[in-house]
Amino acid sequence: MSGKEPEDGLLISPIQDGTVIDHITGGEALVVLRILGITGTTKEAISVATNVGSRISGKKDIVKISNRELSKEEVDRIALIAPNATINIIRDFRVFEKMKVEIPESVTGFVCCPNPGCITNSNEPVESGFKTKKGGRLQCIYCDTIISDNIVDYII
Ligand SMILES: [Zn+2]
Repeated sequence: MSGKEPEDGLLISPIQDGTVIDHITGGEALVVLRILGITGTTKEAISVATNVGSRISGKKDIVKISNRELSKEEVDRIALIAPNATINIIRDFRVFEKMKVEIPESVTGFVCCPNPGCITNSNEPVESGFKTKKGGRLQCIYCDTIISDNIVDYII
């Protein structure tokens, strides 16, 4: 052994077409899948590697999704819990596009307001909406309630 780390490709096999999400915070891969609406009954072929050694961040997770390219909106959602993630769009076994995730200015419709009295939690047909603040905090645009951590717990 040379002491070199194995390439990621040795840990999980390459995909022909789809998306590779790399540099996810160690242990957060399943949360990323949840954000993308990927559950046990999904049709996509998914490979997940968790707590892989990384020179940059210590431990990281990698998710590979065959035959699905993520939209910009989906990529932005991932930023909320994995701000260091990189997204590789794969076509015919090659990296077609590489993107860094960016925390969006606002998020709509997929995070639930923790305030039970908020209009978005009433029977009114109002979709939830949050402005993003420094440090990844979210502020409800209706009642100003702030979610400062455990955003994952509020994802619908
Ligand atoms: Zn609210």
